[in-house]
Amino acid sequence: MRVMSTKQAAFIRTLIAERNLDAGNERRVQILRDMHAAGQPIPSDAASILIGELLKAPRKAAAATAPALGTYHLPDGRIVRIVENREKTRRYGKVWDEDTESWEYLPGLGRLVQDLTPLTLAEAEAFGIRTGNCAICGRTLTRSDSIARGIGPVCASQF
Ligand SMILES: [Zn+2]
Repeated sequence: MRVMSTKQAAFIRTLIAERNLDAGNERRVQILRDMHAAGQPIPSDAASILIGELLKAPRKAAAATAPALGTYHLPDGRIVRIVENREKTRRYGKVWDEDTESWEYLPGLGRLVQDLTPLTLAEAEAFGIRTGNCAICGRTLTRSDSIARGIGPVCASQF
């Protein structure tokens, strides 16, 4: 049996973020989540079927201007965190600046939304190992085990 690829997993995450799911799709997604949580391998065929169904689902109207909270990469490799203001009324992007080694405000998010691809756990770990910073919460990694892995246990559990 071929298992779901990381590309399929990333595509499913993108589709879940940008589509309105009906009850049938909610159930399909939940089944795969349950299998994943139970440590069962997800067959590639099952992932393909889910992708096919999700592609038929209508896009969320607001997707173009309000991306889901989370961490993404852009086609040029830059890492972007979509965060909310304190009042939770507005979402904006923070991009990792390789020169200053810090998160900076990302201008022009509206036209970049379509190019955002959700970060995989492996990508988040690689980013953390390289920068010493957590790709998910944006904080500096401090615990030695988190520094070694590139991500802390709380943020890793979000995948
Ligand atoms: Zn974190």
